[in-house]
Amino acid sequence: MTTPQDIIRRDVLAMTSYPVADATGLVKLDAMENPFPLPEALAAQLGDHLAGVALNRYPAPRPQALIDKLKRVMNVPANCEVLLGNGSDELISIISVACATPGAKVLAPVPGFVMYAMSAKLAGMEFVGVPLNADFTLDVDALLAAIAEHRPAVIYLAYPNNPTGTLFDAADMERIIAAASGSLVVIDEAYQPFAQESWMPRAGDFDNVVVMRTVSKLGLAGIRLGYLAGRTEWINEFDKVRPPYNVNVLTQATADFLLDHIDVLDAQAAQLRDERAKLAQAVAALPGAEVFPSAGNFLLVRVPDASATFETLLTSRVLIKNVSKMHPLLANCVRLTVGSPDENAQMLAALKLVLN
Ligand SMILES: *Cc1c(COP(=O)(O)O)cnc(C)c1O
Repeated sequence: MTTPQDIIRRDVLAMTSYPVADATGLVKLDAMENPFPLPEALAAQLGDHLAGVALNRYPAPRPQALIDKLKRVMNVPANCEVLLGNGSDELISIISVACATPGAKVLAPVPGFVMYAMSAKLAGMEFVGVPLNADFTLDVDALLAAIAEHRPAVIYLAYPNNPTGTLFDAADMERIIAAASGSLVVIDEAYQPFAQESWMPRAGDFDNVVVMRTVSKLGLAGIRLGYLAGRTEWINEFDKVRPPYNVNVLTQATADFLLDHIDVLDAQAAQLRDERAKLAQAVAALPGAEVFPSAGNFLLVRVPDASATFETLLTSRVLIKNVSKMHPLLANCVRLTVGSPDENAQMLAALKLVLN
């Protein structure tokens, strides 16, 4: 008799699946989704567009027309190539697999995005987490020391960072890029629509930098599309590891259509930036709440009791993320996604119940 325990890797047996909370019937403010649907007329047009897609055919593996449009709309420099992924999660996995030589390590500031560590370990690489300063800025000295000690193959810098919302200092990042001459630095700009700062114009300026983006937080989390921009030499190697047909025809057609209407999504992002400012001010006025500066569509907030805050909000049918156990620096912190004005009002009312 064969059991999975005989066959499956021990580290996989010890893992738990990526946790996704059941949000049925709840105001969903836990996962940085854009709360706004597409305008009805645009959704109907998209429907017509998708009706013409040949579902019987495999998708184009490297759809050049779509990539060219993406490069134009997202201002990817001319000397860069683009690789598409089934979400940027898949791009992280491709980078890990491609760089996993024996003994190779992956380094990133912590607390940070959990997939960097998870993906590295699944590819058999050691993950080195370097703690941020207490105010969630980069600890540059610690990072430079860790780079010298570990000589990581890959360094991730999320700009801005999740779950802290911090937009790292660009001069700090330049020091790290300069010190990491033996590493590839992946700048993860998942929250770029809310940051209004970007490394994309410089994506081709360094021999050791690539810039990763996603359309998820812009309002298209459901279609799963990420893109990696960098010099052709890097992109061509990563392309070899990409599963064939990784971006399906419906995703390609949706992206192709909506890139022509990017103003709609940009306007939604602008509204969310306004909502973020209002929400930050309102939450900071509550007794015991400390709001950290955020360049994402979410706020990291330290409260007197994160579990009580999470539970009270859940009782009020508002789902947020309790990140207080993720890392010691996040003690008693919760992460609030910025939603629609209505959703934010509901969240604020629930926060008042527990913080007053
Ligand atoms: C959400 C997020 C991603 C993943 O994006 P997908 O394209 O949806 O896979 C990547 N990096 C960071 C920092 C994120 O917060």
